[in-house]
Amino acid sequence: MRLSRFGRRFTRQSGILRLMDDLGAATSGSGSTCMLGGGNPARIPLMEQRFREGLERLLRNGDGFERAVGSYDGPQGTPEFIDALAALLRSECGWDVGPSNIALTNGSQFSFFLLFNMFAGECEGGEFRHILLPLTPEYIGYSDSSLGEPLFKAMRPRIDKLDDHTFKYHVNFDELSVDASCGAICISRPTNPTGNVVTDDEIERLLALSAESDIPFIIDSAYGNPFPGIVFSRATPVWNDRTIVTMSLSKLGLPGVRTGIVIAREDIVKAITGMNAIFNLATGSFGPALALDLVRSGEITRLSRDIIAPYYRVRAQQALEWLHAEMQGYPYWVHKPEGAFFLWVWFPALPITSEVLYERLKHRGVLILAGEHFFPGLEDDWPHTHECIRINYSQDEHSVRSGFRIIAEEVRRAFDAAPERLGRSELSA
Ligand code: PLP
Repeated sequence: MRLSRFGRRFTRQSGILRLMDDLGAATSGSGSTCMLGGGNPARIPLMEQRFREGLERLLRNGDGFERAVGSYDGPQGTPEFIDALAALLRSECGWDVGPSNIALTNGSQFSFFLLFNMFAGECEGGEFRHILLPLTPEYIGYSDSSLGEPLFKAMRPRIDKLDDHTFKYHVNFDELSVDASCGAICISRPTNPTGNVVTDDEIERLLALSAESDIPFIIDSAYGNPFPGIVFSRATPVWNDRTIVTMSLSKLGLPGVRTGIVIAREDIVKAITGMNAIFNLATGSFGPALALDLVRSGEITRLSRDIIAPYYRVRAQQALEWLHAEMQGYPYWVHKPEGAFFLWVWFPALPITSEVLYERLKHRGVLILAGEHFFPGLEDDWPHTHECIRINYSQDEHSVRSGFRIIAEEVRRAFDAAPERLGRSELSA
């Protein structure tokens, strides 16, 4: 194949392609793989029941189903859904938003492609702008989303140790500066891969920095409030004219409907709408049709608070217990799980890279993600990036439990083969 630059750029091996390939192979395979890798949400029976009822209602109610699948929506997204969502965000979060502040996309992954390339890259005057990630590790899916040169400039975090085995990343404001080449700031909250919830105070300070530089502040709320609300600590949802909040139906349990949501100033929403028309004609209408009643009635936030958040809170606790039981006597630190559904585990002075650990585990039927991929835009080679893994603990308990056992066996084997590294494990932060 003789490929253009675009062709080469988007057909090469990428972290996100490997992740989704692993995920596809595991979900369509014989079921023997412990799928602790991709970002699939859990199958929560009560939520699945609600979605099934939503579909039955669509089928029963006149031509509801035919309208949902039989015609194109406009490029901003299903109007009834957008109206209902604006009302929900006003009442639940107190945000001053109307329908003209909301555009839908075909999954928030695509929202990021549009937003990043809209605010960063080569600009009219020939200058190059970047997206600032003030706190890495950060979501793997951002990495390859630029049309041209890599877009990201990233910061190492400050690491606070909370007890013998738990730590939390913070934005390192001492080192953070926003210069004229910065096109936007972006953060995921809760963060994929760490389960970190950037504090209200950190959000305030980042907002102030974006205001000083007159650039947008993108808050990726794929796991956040008001839905799906996979948040175990305090996190006030924030929106104003300068912020762009992105949401999604995926982590409610509907990744298959590919519905992303962008909440932003009117001119930004108009821009997204225009790009939707070019890239997709329209946004998918099935997800909004399925979720409309839940949003209109406000039930979506009650389900998030009463079913989804408690479900993942229990799973997080259980995953922590398994990790502590398996790793006793070996060096490990885990990021405090404050949201989303991942454990981010750091093995200081790990004798092999996390990429090699990933390969060994894959060979044994356990899929995780190597930490290396979660530092887009970080220029220096920081050993920490090779010492961490991300574990998705949301899948069935039996396979997660077996997965933890095998992960610990492989990590212990690596340390046992290089015992001199054990003594160095405290030095590598
Ligand atoms: N943002 C974060 C932080 C994610 O973890 C994901 C998916 O895993 C996405 C965005 C993309 O989600 P979707 O395209 O399914 O809406």
